[in-house]
Amino acid sequence: MKIVVIGGGPGGYVAAIKAAMMGAEVTIVEKSKVGGTCLNVGCIPTKTLLASSEILEAVREAKEFGINVMGDVAIDFPAVMKRKDKIVEQLVKGIEFLFESKGVKLVRGFGKLASNNKVEVALDDGTKEILEADKIILATGSVPIIPGMFPYDREHVITSDEALFLQEAPQSLLIVGGGVIGCEFGQFFSKMGTKVTIVEMAEQLLPFEDEDVAKQLSRAFKRDKMKMIHGEKIVNCVVDGAVVKATLESGKMIEAEKALISVGRKPYLENMGLEEAGIEVRNGKIVVNEQMETTVPGIYAIGDIVDSPFLAHVASKEGLVAVENAMGKNKKINYKAVPRCVYTDPEVAAVGLTEKQLMEKGIEYHVGRFEFRGLGKAQAIGKFQGFVKVLVDHQDKIIGASVVGPHATDLLAELTVAVHLGLTAEEVGDVIHPHPTLSEALMEALHDVHKACVHSL
Ligand code: FAD
Repeated sequence: MKIVVIGGGPGGYVAAIKAAMMGAEVTIVEKSKVGGTCLNVGCIPTKTLLASSEILEAVREAKEFGINVMGDVAIDFPAVMKRKDKIVEQLVKGIEFLFESKGVKLVRGFGKLASNNKVEVALDDGTKEILEADKIILATGSVPIIPGMFPYDREHVITSDEALFLQEAPQSLLIVGGGVIGCEFGQFFSKMGTKVTIVEMAEQLLPFEDEDVAKQLSRAFKRDKMKMIHGEKIVNCVVDGAVVKATLESGKMIEAEKALISVGRKPYLENMGLEEAGIEVRNGKIVVNEQMETTVPGIYAIGDIVDSPFLAHVASKEGLVAVENAMGKNKKINYKAVPRCVYTDPEVAAVGLTEKQLMEKGIEYHVGRFEFRGLGKAQAIGKFQGFVKVLVDHQDKIIGASVVGPHATDLLAELTVAVHLGLTAEEVGDVIHPHPTLSEALMEALHDVHKACVHSL
């Protein structure tokens, strides 16, 4: 079986390796660097930068832990960026090494469909190559959305793509959009000494997450001296000399050295030959069935180009499922249990439905909640802001959960398993959790569903 994958992000590269492991002859086409958005300008570089701001915070708080740090704490911003570059580079090499060791052929160039079993590649050296395939997997990812009113010049008005390569922290930064990317960059730059203002048109940060969770994050951002404007849109934006001037609906003007546009992303489907191949695209996204197959049999699409959450782990899972189906199996994805994580301080993590969604759907539910401050471990590590909130249905099944607090993104895994398997609060709450750990907060919140939480305040 010959499989050609177009796009080497977490969807495409995982699919390519899986297909090779299942015995297929695999070629992957990548126009830029393997690892895609996630590794080069997304998940990994942002988390690497946030790790630096976390260290800074830890040093600043060291005295509270009885540790005296001598001398001034100084930020070497270029070194922060250099560390990020080094880690990304190592991981890119790691994927290239995996390709070699698993027998995946990497072709560098721009791939497009030439028919339902041919991919034409405009190679980096200017020549063309036709690749024959029994099955094709499209995984070309996404790019930032930039509304027309913003004069995107990559210098004053930027997106995450440019923010990750700044060589100094701006004096002031306007962040347009308080979603995951806006919040993570906002807090990073704020900790690096930038005056940050986030404008979010919804009534809360992280508009798709639990209201209480967003409030907790807002409180932390206020402590970090970040300014937040909710429920208002920017109606005009100009670059005036070296200053970005943005006007709000109310007429208020915000001035900043740079504006970072983080209002969302859209599939990247340019010049792919989709229409000629007969592949249906709806609302800018490729239509696929439960097997991840497009409207043309034998051509699959995965990741940010289909109508599912724009997340690396979703792209990878879809890649695995597409490959298994291309190789003759019949696999589907359970989208009920997709973890959503925000790597701010405190971290935010959620899975399943939120309370608002349950109310809108008219589903009966019960809530269990536990504050981290009630935990010995949280006190010991000095990180006790936040809580765990679990939502169960009338049969006690866990159908949603949010965690805001220390290591929330790692803690969420247990609740993701619970939602995935349809476990009840009683079943998971019955499990012995190690003491002293942050995971006890999950257990206590699950006990709280039945008002049986021993440590509730
Ligand atoms: P991509 O990663 O976008 O990869 C697509 C690849 O295809 C690219 O390498 C591109 O060069 C290549 N390509 C495109 N067209 C062609 C063509 N015609 N020929 C050849 N190659 C082509 N998600 C998380 O889960 N966790 C996070 O913490 C997280 N943080 C993020 C932070 C930021 C700043 C951003 C921007 C995104 C973040 N995401 C995060 C989202 C995540 O990066 C994406 O959901 C994920 O990368 C999508 O994977 P993909 O394989 O579909 O596409």
